Amino acid sequence: MNHNESMEREGKVAFPLLSSHNGTAALKRFLERHNYPALTPKAVLFDMDGVLFDSMPNHASSWAKVCTNFGLNMTPEEAYMHEGRTGEATIQILAQRYWKRPATAEEMEQIYEAKCRLFNACPEAPKMEGAAEVLKEVKNLGLTIAVVTGSGQQSLLQRLEDNYPGIFRPELIVSSKDVRHGKPNPEPYLLGLERTGLKPWEAIVVENAPLGVQAAVAAGIFTIAVNTGPLPESVLLQSGADLLFPSMTALAEALHKA
Ligand code: MG
Repeated sequence: MNHNESMEREGKVAFPLLSSHNGTAALKRFLERHNYPALTPKAVLFDMDGVLFDSMPNHASSWAKVCTNFGLNMTPEEAYMHEGRTGEATIQILAQRYWKRPATAEEMEQIYEAKCRLFNACPEAPKMEGAAEVLKEVKNLGLTIAVVTGSGQQSLLQRLEDNYPGIFRPELIVSSKDVRHGKPNPEPYLLGLERTGLKPWEAIVVENAPLGVQAAVAAGIFTIAVNTGPLPESVLLQSGADLLFPSMTALAEALHKA
């Protein structure tokens, strides 16, 4: 093994953050847990809502308002706990809890449509602070950039392109339309690996939601959580996050320093 290979084995060349104080310990735990010989990142898979766009306040308030109107009491805080689930899965959990029966296909459609109407009436969510800097650092490292989102909005690709020109490739975007099972199922992240042609030990995930972290961890990928919402850090750590940052800005700074 030459010097470069041995550096890469420790994640030093491809993703210098892993050589930092916290990174080294997190990497060791990760390799032991999955029984991988090395982590050699070639791509970063980004979640979208709450990572690339500061869209979660709009999602959470829309969900809470619409569900409560239908007799399915939901607070915005609870909406953050469901983030990443498909709309249908979220509605079914609430229907069982409050109606003591499954929601019908018609009810699910009604509620989901009402949620989308309200969400679309919200002012367009801004870019997440620090996200452009994170993308720049990742691009400078020569890593592939992909998106794995539970969202299925038609305008998704255009929005990504408008806000982050030249960063994303359409074939490297996994949306809710591409999968049968939403997060916390690993399917979206496994598809992300398939699209990038990589193994779990060749990618890194950036996620903000507990269920998203669970999905990435279940897919066997090193997962960086960014706590951009109101949940306590412990929720993200308990979901299995390998590293945690309080914001995308903090992650950008750590990447820049590493
Ligand atoms: Mg998210």
